Amino acid sequence: MTTKATSAHEPVGRLLHWLGLHRSEGEASRRGAPPPGPDESRDLARGARRELAETISYFLIDNGLDVSPANLLLAHSAFSGSNPQLARQIAARAKSADGITQQWLDELAEQDAARPEQADLERLMARLESNVDAFQAHTKAARGVTRDYGTELEQHVIDLEQVQKTGQLVTNLAGLAKAMLERTRKAEDDMRRSEDEARALRRSLARATREAEIDYLTGLPNRRAFEALLEHHYTEARAACEPLSVAFCDIDEFKRVNDTHGHEAGDRVIKLIADTLAHISDDHCHVARHGGEEFVMLFRGLPPSEAAARLDEAREALANRRLINRKTDQPFGQITFSGGVADLFGYGDSRGALKAADEALYRAKEAGRNRIELA
Ligand code: GH3
Ligand code: MG
Ligand code: MG
Repeated sequence: MTTKATSAHEPVGRLLHWLGLHRSEGEASRRGAPPPGPDESRDLARGARRELAETISYFLIDNGLDVSPANLLLAHSAFSGSNPQLARQIAARAKSADGITQQWLDELAEQDAARPEQADLERLMARLESNVDAFQAHTKAARGVTRDYGTELEQHVIDLEQVQKTGQLVTNLAGLAKAMLERTRKAEDDMRRSEDEARALRRSLARATREAEIDYLTGLPNRRAFEALLEHHYTEARAACEPLSVAFCDIDEFKRVNDTHGHEAGDRVIKLIADTLAHISDDHCHVARHGGEEFVMLFRGLPPSEAAARLDEAREALANRRLINRKTDQPFGQITFSGGVADLFGYGDSRGALKAADEALYRAKEAGRNRIELA
């Protein structure tokens, strides 16, 4: 409140002040937001993240686009500055008569320039998630503030209407206050919508994060997911004094399969080995695609000798089959894999154990393949 207001207009000034009508345009537009605390105003980075999350959500909502992982990734690359070319393409399209449509975005996503690398994707997930956190917290706080403001305003409108005999000015102000009340309610609705959108965004992110942990070819957890599994079971099994073994499996002479039958047939063989290994997994045995034609397994509650025996059964069953390329009817012949098994608690840390399992796998290859070696 101004300290200079000493004239007869002071009560009016005070009322206008209370109604927020004396404020500058910029301040007024911020009325729905919570007053920035000393920490918050200093935290420019957080503000920028919040702005990015808002830009992304307005871009999707205003253009009638789905809040899907693909759209989120694309919008993030464009508006975070990580892909300026994409940002220019979107800006140019927005100005054109065609406008931004889902079909156009899908075509854009096909182009390499718009597709982030896996590492980028992971980084982006984490960043987008923290943006959504900030965005959600912000909208929730802002909604609370507008609701309180609305309730208070409503009480004053009632008071003003009761004393309207005091003059036209008060009547006008009551009208003005009513209009303000409506605006406040609308702001509250907008905030609630924003919060719903943020929630939908969060669900899409959770889905995208899950998808980023699954190998698209085999449907198995990928290496990243395996590392999380390993950490979890390593800690739990150690605390419970349970045995825990790890195995690396690698398809034998797989290059020959690719060379003879083509890459696509090779993919089907990888899928078959994945299914074979998945067949012996359960709550205590986890299998993941480590990369290429290599798989990694965790055996909870089994010492290395028992884990190796279990893996050896799967190896033998596969080696006894004679597979046929169903696209060409040509025989694949015998498809085998080799494995190396190690005790996760026998080498100082889990990295040491993984290395030991890898060395055992190498020995299995050296010894003629189609066998499981213990570290
Ligand atoms: P070894 O018995 O010593 O393991 O011989 P190998 O031929 O299996 O080993 P090498 O590492 O030389 O070859 C692995 C091949 O796997 C090379 C690569 O082209 C192929 N490969 C890796 N990932 C994939 C994939 O996703 N699909 C297909 N079809 N091939 C893949
Ligand atoms: Mg290999
Ligand atoms: Mg191989």
